Amino acid sequence: MNSVHLTEEKLQALADKAERTTALEMQHIANCMECRIKFENYQLINSTLQQLPQVAFDPDLADHIVAMVKPQRSAIHWAAFIAAILGGILVMVSTVLYGKQFFAFFIQLPYILRYFFALIPLSFISVQTVLFFLHHQQKMKTVKEKTDYLAT
Ligand SMILES: [Zn+2]
Repeated sequence: MNSVHLTEEKLQALADKAERTTALEMQHIANCMECRIKFENYQLINSTLQQLPQVAFDPDLADHIVAMVKPQRSAIHWAAFIAAILGGILVMVSTVLYGKQFFAFFIQLPYILRYFFALIPLSFISVQTVLFFLHHQQKMKTVKEKTDYLAT
């Protein structure tokens, strides 16, 4: 019996069938329990790995990401849209009916109140714009975290 054990690399290569087994090596494996157990374990690992299902890249990944990036259509958006249309109609009708009275009233107001009435819609639009960008940024961050998670 050959007293020199086969190296781990040699046993792996033999179990892999990457290297041809020589008669001397086969004789050692047959006679040495320690090397035989290692050899059989490597063979078992190889056959188990081959039986594992092939992990395929999800072909729908791009669609999933696009779905995450796309703004979610919700009832709130439609309600806001309808409210904006009704508000626009109301403003137009009011302008036609009471435009002159309102202009006369507005002219009579002190300057400070005129600026005040002009600043309310402007500040509202500004705040909405900032909120929109913050929300968008948060959404992109979430998408990035999800894609990073999928990539690892
Ligand atoms: Zn051995």
